[in-house]
Amino acid sequence: MLNVTEKVVVITGASSGIGEATAKLLAHQGAKVVLAARREDRLKTIEDQIRQDGGQAVSFQADVASYDDMQKLAGFAQEQFGRIDALVNNAGVMPASPLSELRVDEWDRMIDVNVKGVLYGIAAVLPVMRAQRAGHIVNLSSVAGYQVNPTSAVYSATKFAVRAISEGLRQEESPASRIRSTIVSPGLTETELLDSIGSPDTKAMTNQLAGMGISPYAIARAIAFALNEPDDVSVNEIVVRPTALP
Ligand code: NDP
Repeated sequence: MLNVTEKVVVITGASSGIGEATAKLLAHQGAKVVLAARREDRLKTIEDQIRQDGGQAVSFQADVASYDDMQKLAGFAQEQFGRIDALVNNAGVMPASPLSELRVDEWDRMIDVNVKGVLYGIAAVLPVMRAQRAGHIVNLSSVAGYQVNPTSAVYSATKFAVRAISEGLRQEESPASRIRSTIVSPGLTETELLDSIGSPDTKAMTNQLAGMGISPYAIARAIAFALNEPDDVSVNEIVVRPTALP
């Protein structure tokens, strides 16, 4: 039996890419998965696929940038399964562009989803996990959370922030409440993430990277590794890059 077997795992951004792969892999390993995202139809399809495969899954429409939605998501997970053992704060957007294009709405969206979304996720589950005196929060950063490139200033800022938040959470909660926290930082991964780029020049640049990323299941396996370590082992940081890229 794996550590995630029969555990309740809430996954944001579960309607595509890394979130979808993580939900399917963890459900296959016996976890009870709670899928969250905005696109309800996609969530339902994935939920059905997991159930047909013999797994346990429920889904809930939530915008991570809404504090209220995240509180409701945590309530729904508890209603369905009685507890929350883990949260994968995976939802994210990357409308990259040079700062000079002044795409202020896109900056706001990245900060709302990538930073506030992670904080609201933590706010929704922390009281539950503290009461349980156990829990695990996995936060998705990025290789862009370690280095900045032209067009990635704001996205990188959000992913640096995710690492800071996750490390702060670890220092505060790990010894006191036995709540583990893990930062998972993917390199280029084949998902829909680049679709959120609005800047035509940036889009043209990133189109050259098509097909060079790794499978979202590579990241799902890293997340599953951290969750499956025994409760007294806290895996704090994992970086996963395509072998063929620098
Ligand atoms: P996808 O675009 O495939 O998935 C993003 C997910 O986030 C979708 O399920 C989307 O669902 C959800 N999402 C976006 N905005 C919101 C919102 N406001 N509320 C709730 N859910 C939202 O990309 P990835 O799978 O690649 O991205 C997953 C994570 O991995 C992100 O945090 C990303 O930054 C990170 N990452 C990805 C890399 C890559 O190369 N792909 C590299 C490094 C990090 P919906 O639209 O239905 O709400």
